[in-house]
Amino acid sequence: MTPDNSQDNNNNQSPCPRLNYKANPALACNSCRQGKFKCTGEKNQCQRCAMLGKQCWYPAHKRERIQREMDQLVTEANEYRLMLELLLSRVNKEDAEDISALLFKYEK
Ligand SMILES: [Zn+2]
Ligand SMILES: [Zn+2]
Repeated sequence: MTPDNSQDNNNNQSPCPRLNYKANPALACNSCRQGKFKCTGEKNQCQRCAMLGKQCWYPAHKRERIQREMDQLVTEANEYRLMLELLLSRVNKEDAEDISALLFKYEK
C-alpha cells in the first residue's frame, strides 16, 4: 500500500483572489471624517493619525447607536412610569385620574 496524497494537493488549485482589505471604505475614523480625508481604516490607529500623532477612534455604527438610544429611552420611560405610579397615591383625585389615564394609555 502506497499512501497517495497527491490528490489532496490539487484541492487548493484555485487560490481565492481575495484581497486583504483592512479598511471598510464607509468607515472613516473621527479625525479623517472631520477633515474629509480618506481613512486607511486601521483598527487601532489609521495611517494618517499615526503620522500626525492624532487620537484615532471610530464612531459607533449607526445601528448600535440607535439601539443604545432606544435602550436608554426604554429605561427612561420605565422610570417615569414608576414615578407616576408613586405619585398616584400622593396627588389629589383629579390629578390621579389624569395620571391613571396616561399610564393606561401606554400600558403594555
Ligand atoms: Zn483615519
Ligand atoms: Zn485615524
